Amino acid sequence: MLRFPVGDSHVHPDCSIDAEGSLRQFCEQALTVSLQQITFTTHYEITPAGRDKYGYFVLDGQRHEANPDSVKRYVDQVRAVGREFFPLGLKVLCGLEIGWHESIHDRLVRELPGFDLDLVIGSVHELGGVHFSAGAEGPDFFKTHSLDEWISEYFAAAEQIARSGLFNLLGHLDVYKRNALPVYGEKVKEAYRPYLPPLFRAMIEHDLALEVNTSGIRHGVGEYYPSMAIINEARRTGVTIAALGSDAHRPDQLALDFETALQLVYELLPRPLEDGREY
Ligand SMILES: [Zn+2]
Ligand SMILES: [Zn+2]
Repeated sequence: MLRFPVGDSHVHPDCSIDAEGSLRQFCEQALTVSLQQITFTTHYEITPAGRDKYGYFVLDGQRHEANPDSVKRYVDQVRAVGREFFPLGLKVLCGLEIGWHESIHDRLVRELPGFDLDLVIGSVHELGGVHFSAGAEGPDFFKTHSLDEWISEYFAAAEQIARSGLFNLLGHLDVYKRNALPVYGEKVKEAYRPYLPPLFRAMIEHDLALEVNTSGIRHGVGEYYPSMAIINEARRTGVTIAALGSDAHRPDQLALDFETALQLVYELLPRPLEDGREY
């Protein structure tokens, strides 16, 4: 049970083809673990490398291509569940996690204003046309490439997410640790250093906030995405640390490690208002 009112801002219900558990089952679990808010962030994977495998929504047991029509149906379903759970003490928000590639920029510019969303997470999921963060392709990619061959591409893509101005949150920065750590060892944890200052400048300039994603704990990485070193650097440079996400793909993964995360990422603890009330 959480001791603080808090939300989980990165959650994949079974509308994502790689997740299990209905919207309703996630909401029930959110109440069980005392979350105050849950934000569904179903994958919107429309990049050339991602769309064939992940570019779908599953709605009422049917697979639909990821497009504005399926987003609208997904949003309607989340809003309906939200109306059901609000009187029970749970605020349900609706978002998307969009896998980035520069080729989708213009499509997003056209589509996003028509989506009724509370949160849009931008994430780097692919390098050199390979979906590296999940599935079998990730380990193979890292085994066949040196660190220098991809690290600048990762941070260039993250910087494009910032400069696009299309997103609220940068998702799981340094998630490459998941599959790269076993290949390169500890040095991969330090590889961000030269690339962080320009990325953080772009984030500040374009008002993109940082997500702290706890799924590194269940991936066996032993730390969050991003690492505490990067979180501390965000604090030092003035990047907003705006959300805590478990990246749950099953209800029992909700709010993973949040008790500890809230001690470390204290920006996200509820703060008292001047008159003593909490918000
Ligand atoms: Zn992701
Ligand atoms: Zn995710």
